Amino acid sequence: MPDMPPALREAARRRRWTPEGLSRLAAALPKVETHLHLDGALSPETVRRLADADPRSPLRGLSVEEIRRKVVVDQPRASLGAVLDAFHAYYPLLRTAEAVELSAYEMIRECARQNILHAEARFAPSLQAAEGFPMEEVLAAALRGLKRGEEDFGVSGGAIICLLRPFSVVDRDANAAMAGLAARFAGRGVVGLDVADAGAGGERLSEYGRWLRDGRAAGLGLTAHAGESPRGGEIEDALEIGVDRIGHGIILRERPDLVKELVRRGTVVEVNPTSNLRTGAVASYRDHPVRAWRDAGLLTTLSTDDPGVFGIDLVHEYEALSRDAGFSAEELVELAWNGVWSLFLPEARRRELAVRFELGAAAALDKS
Ligand SMILES: [Zn+2]
Repeated sequence: MPDMPPALREAARRRRWTPEGLSRLAAALPKVETHLHLDGALSPETVRRLADADPRSPLRGLSVEEIRRKVVVDQPRASLGAVLDAFHAYYPLLRTAEAVELSAYEMIRECARQNILHAEARFAPSLQAAEGFPMEEVLAAALRGLKRGEEDFGVSGGAIICLLRPFSVVDRDANAAMAGLAARFAGRGVVGLDVADAGAGGERLSEYGRWLRDGRAAGLGLTAHAGESPRGGEIEDALEIGVDRIGHGIILRERPDLVKELVRRGTVVEVNPTSNLRTGAVASYRDHPVRAWRDAGLLTTLSTDDPGVFGIDLVHEYEALSRDAGFSAEELVELAWNGVWSLFLPEARRRELAVRFELGAAAALDKS
């Protein structure tokens, strides 16, 4: 990854930043989303719209506030599993082409509001497939929503297909079918492959290695949720497979040996601080290992994971790190810069975004 342009470093260092100035910078800075679940990005307003269009939905007729109470996790819960319960409240609404397309379109609209240049949206098409709505159509609907969003709001997007652990939730055949679908759509809207975790233990990540390697051969970028909760061996498995990025990686705080290895390889960690708070993986923003990782030279990007479910946006995450984890203006810009260069895009496209980023970041530093 190229170093951040020295002119941006100097511009960020040149002045004394007040907390208000850093908040303005968090909002104005061009940003990217590298770890954003499409099915976790729905606002209560969008859920209400979908519920009111579905005569069978138990959420039909509820107010936005009543829906918010059911689908937004705004306080820490005991575990990842307890957070995933919030998804179950609205998930049945996502199994139509209109709903999938709308969710992708609305996600891009939200990104534009936050000065996000590009968003990678991840999801597992087999979870949204239904009778008469096969996973190819789930993917096609999501890609239509991203495309329409780009035309209307100027924010580009790409899809990352999430394989799912464990096989007791999504079986081997469905995972194989999703991996095949991702490879077929490589370069046609799908940019990467992920392994997400339904929170119930099960197979090791290494069981998914073959599918990830096939994805790589088809030209996809690779990431994996690993080390989010204290289960052994996940980071090691991800490294063995050769992923480009790791989602969460919280257990790295106890493993300086693995941090060193990630630094050596240039593997990027996708950091989602509020998500880690709400699942109980970290106690506070101040305690989040991202500060120590950055100081150890680990490449990190900042994302929201599930902005709808957590009731947050990406500006909130940048603000939280500046307010509670001591991130300076220069370090905020660096996080966003790392994001641009971590995207699963051809080199020429990344370079193009980096030029836009540089101009936008200079202006944001100037006026914040
Ligand atoms: Zn995630």
